[in-house]
Amino acid sequence: MNTFDQAHIWHPYAKIPNEVSTHVVKSAEGVYLNLENDKRVVDGMSSWWSAIHGYNHPTLNQAITTQLGKMSHVMFGGLTHDPAIALAKTLIEITPENLTKVFFTDSGSVAVEAALKMALQYWHNKGQSDKHKFVTIRGGYHGDTFGAMSVCDPDNGMHHLFSSVLPKHYFVKSPSMEPMDDALQDLESTLKQHSSSIAAMILEPVVQGAGGMRLYNPQYLTKAKALCEQHDVLFILDEIATGFGRTGELFALEYVEVEPDILCLGKALTGGYMSLAATLTTDKISQGVGTLMHGPTFMANPLACSVANASIELLLSSNWQDNIADIEAVLHSELSTLRQHEKVADVRILGAIGVVELTEEMDMEIVQNLLIENGVWLRPYGKLLYTMPPFIINKQELLLITKAIKAVIETL
Ligand SMILES: *Cc1c(COP(=O)(O)O)cnc(C)c1O
Repeated sequence: MNTFDQAHIWHPYAKIPNEVSTHVVKSAEGVYLNLENDKRVVDGMSSWWSAIHGYNHPTLNQAITTQLGKMSHVMFGGLTHDPAIALAKTLIEITPENLTKVFFTDSGSVAVEAALKMALQYWHNKGQSDKHKFVTIRGGYHGDTFGAMSVCDPDNGMHHLFSSVLPKHYFVKSPSMEPMDDALQDLESTLKQHSSSIAAMILEPVVQGAGGMRLYNPQYLTKAKALCEQHDVLFILDEIATGFGRTGELFALEYVEVEPDILCLGKALTGGYMSLAATLTTDKISQGVGTLMHGPTFMANPLACSVANASIELLLSSNWQDNIADIEAVLHSELSTLRQHEKVADVRILGAIGVVELTEEMDMEIVQNLLIENGVWLRPYGKLLYTMPPFIINKQELLLITKAIKAVIETL
């Protein structure tokens, strides 16, 4: 813990002074974070879904250093560069066929803002300015900026402080793992009643991340997309957390081969090296949108694009499917039995994501220290103790994580 940090610096969703200790990281290598006092912990968080290849990777380091020797940044207004062009080509190639246009931003929240703007401008230019609301499923998370906040779960406590200034959108029941449930009916009746005022539906495919780490049946996506099409409502998928292999498919939308009108990518896009995000859309929407009124200063930063290119190449040339299947198998064999534990409400596993939901909220300070004592870095919140490790993690390192999770449950 650093006393200056504690007295002067805000951390995510925290107070000054921070109530929960922050730990100084000196360096990071592979799956390990090297903390001060020579402590070494296995990172089970991949720095919030992003460091899929681990830290200090020679190939990624090389890509960014080579680019640094050419230029670290140039404005994207009126100028362009090879790293951005190459990245846009790759993203168009690896995402659904209908997605052919790319808007680069500097963070996931801003990629969501751009997606919402695209939808609003599209209908505005078609003379349908009344279509200015969004529909989303409860339990979602799409970022911390105002547009993104307005489509996050309205009740889970993250942003409800701002509810009086946020525009009101439509929230429908979240789907479950059941193949057919009333979530679809809720969506259908909302669309039937309000589609003349709805520009788009936005949701995270298959896994709802920061809004509660829930999984749902991918079939919902196919049916929700069909309903949206039927009611002239655009379909936005936010794959900022799920993209680039995390769920076992390259993109979670591949579980059902659904084609969104707009797709948001971020987090693992650069392998966790730099902040970069992208919003993709179709020929039709881009034509309809016209001049998109957005242009961040650091749009398509060349260092970020170059490391994104290297990260995607590294991912696609690796045995990522096998690695994730191996991780999933270990998570299943080590965590599934916890379902029977009296302090455990649920266990959810998909790809390289393992979630243990407890029956009661945890004391962050106690749990965090216990995890570090067990050689592991996880960042639990509320009742959720979860891991989404780097794809390069080996079995022994992963067992350290599952053991630490069990140790927490036993000690609480
Ligand atoms: C993290 C996240 C965002 C926001 O991305 P930032 O880069 O933190 O702004 C948006 N949507 C989803 C699904 C996310 O997981």
